[in-house]
Amino acid sequence: MTRTDVVVIGAGLGGLTAGAILARDGRRVVVIERSNSVGGAASSYKVGDLFVEGSLHLTGDPHHPQDAKHTALSRAGALDGVQWTPAGALYEVRGGPIGAPFVLPDSFDGARAALTGRFPDATEAIDRLLGEMRRLASTAGEGGLDAVFALAPEFPDWSVSLADKLQSLFGDNEALKCAIAGDLAYVHDDAASMWWVPFAIVQGGLLLSGGRFVQGGSQRLSSAIARTIRKAGGEVLLRRIVSRIEIGEAGAPSRVTHTARDGSDPQTIEAITVIGNAAPATLASLMPQPQASRLTDSYADRPLGLSLFALSLGLSAPPRDFGVTSFVTQLLPDWMQTLASYAEGKTLMSGEPGDRMPPLALADYAAIDSGVPAPPYVLSVVGPDQLSNWADLSQDDYRAKRARWQQAIVEYLDRIYPGLAGAVIASSFNVALSVQQYLGAPDGSVYGFAPLPPDASGKPYRSPRTVLPGLYLASSYSGLGGHSGAIQSAALCAGMILSDEAK
Ligand SMILES: Cc1cc2nc3c(=O)[nH]c(=O)nc-3n(C[C@H](O)[C@H](O)[C@H](O)COP(=O)(O)OP(=O)(O)OC[C@H]3O[C@@H](n4cnc5c(N)ncnc54)[C@H](O)[C@@H]3O)c2cc1C
Repeated sequence: MTRTDVVVIGAGLGGLTAGAILARDGRRVVVIERSNSVGGAASSYKVGDLFVEGSLHLTGDPHHPQDAKHTALSRAGALDGVQWTPAGALYEVRGGPIGAPFVLPDSFDGARAALTGRFPDATEAIDRLLGEMRRLASTAGEGGLDAVFALAPEFPDWSVSLADKLQSLFGDNEALKCAIAGDLAYVHDDAASMWWVPFAIVQGGLLLSGGRFVQGGSQRLSSAIARTIRKAGGEVLLRRIVSRIEIGEAGAPSRVTHTARDGSDPQTIEAITVIGNAAPATLASLMPQPQASRLTDSYADRPLGLSLFALSLGLSAPPRDFGVTSFVTQLLPDWMQTLASYAEGKTLMSGEPGDRMPPLALADYAAIDSGVPAPPYVLSVVGPDQLSNWADLSQDDYRAKRARWQQAIVEYLDRIYPGLAGAVIASSFNVALSVQQYLGAPDGSVYGFAPLPPDASGKPYRSPRTVLPGLYLASSYSGLGGHSGAIQSAALCAGMILSDEAK
């Protein structure tokens, strides 16, 4: 048995960032990761010649002092560990109720000019929304969610859904709603159930600092943070699965057992503090009763957020040769004439491909200085999905259905970008089931808990603190989802551990 100060379960962005901050503060840190490499969702890898970016289309610029990652990555020693490539406009949105394609620039001033230019009758409402988004995003970037909640008295419509917020400002102008929230799947899949404040924080964060891509892929960021852990004397163990969390006399997790992936070679570490980067449900499954139930019950009122499918296409020529005109394109299908109908997108893969395609987010990595190797030229196609679409299928049926959907998506893209289908020379298709299997993510959720409006229970909206002493969360589950959410909440987690230690 070895002893350490902190064990981190999972080497996704949240676990790595918290581990790095604590290791640089002198704590003995051991990070345990089940996969072959660090990063979790923030990984990139090769399938044959094809470069697969596991997650990243866009994140805010962490060099901006009000970006949610700024302080966290500075404290983790990783802010300058990678190049942050400017991504240009946040997206071009096409189809649905939009009419002519609309480009949303990557700044508040640019967004105001583009939106009021296209929708001049709504200028006052656009100004109001952008002003509120700026206030919420800058406050969140500097002070996190606690600082955001302190603003509640300023907003009479604080708890409303995104759908209600946009309806109250823009009425039935669905084109305007889709112009400003065309990238809904970067936060949630349903404007009617989503709280408008997280949308304002995430979208406003991108408008505040500008969109960035990690040059060379998100793996570089994850690896850079892991390097700072090792440099500070910490350990990052790969291909080791945490199989048990034991509870000590004080009711706190005290020992963590990890094994090789085939269950052999069990080793136990005694730790003062345990950080869960893995989902709370995963952590609970590793504990004895009654702690497992206590932990699970404390999140019983928190449904999981969305899952995504990600189809990486390797093309023999750059996507622009087939008419792809932006780094990120949000393709809204013709059946989607309202923002509300976005919610149906995640259900479509429950059946066979037919007339209706889900909304798709495309990223053409050859359109910016992404550092993504080519050829093949990578076009990433991401859309909303859910685990139940793929449940109860034999392995053969699952593979065949996934292949049929891949073919249907490629044919659909070919109708919009003629010639694209014939240029596909490589591909990799991950769906909600793959996310669940590869990341151990319950229900394939990629952003943690669903960003629903706050309840009246008085419980914190999100927190690294759990009901079990000595157990903290550093992940999308302890803050908002995405690279920014996971990284920012990890810094909050590390700060909480240090201040609890000092008490
Ligand atoms: C297709 C896709 C597109 C996305 N696009 C974007 C985007 O453009 N911008 C953006 O900001 N975000 C995007 N995201 C979301 C973002 O990548 C994630 O929200 C974020 O990376 C989650 O980080 P995390 O630290 O919460 O956890 P995760 O990345 O889920 O990491 C958890 C880690 O825990 C490990 N683990 C689990 N159980 C165990 C165990 N028992 N023992 C050891 N290890 C364990 C897992 O293997 C995993 O590595 C996207 C995600 C996906 C899937």
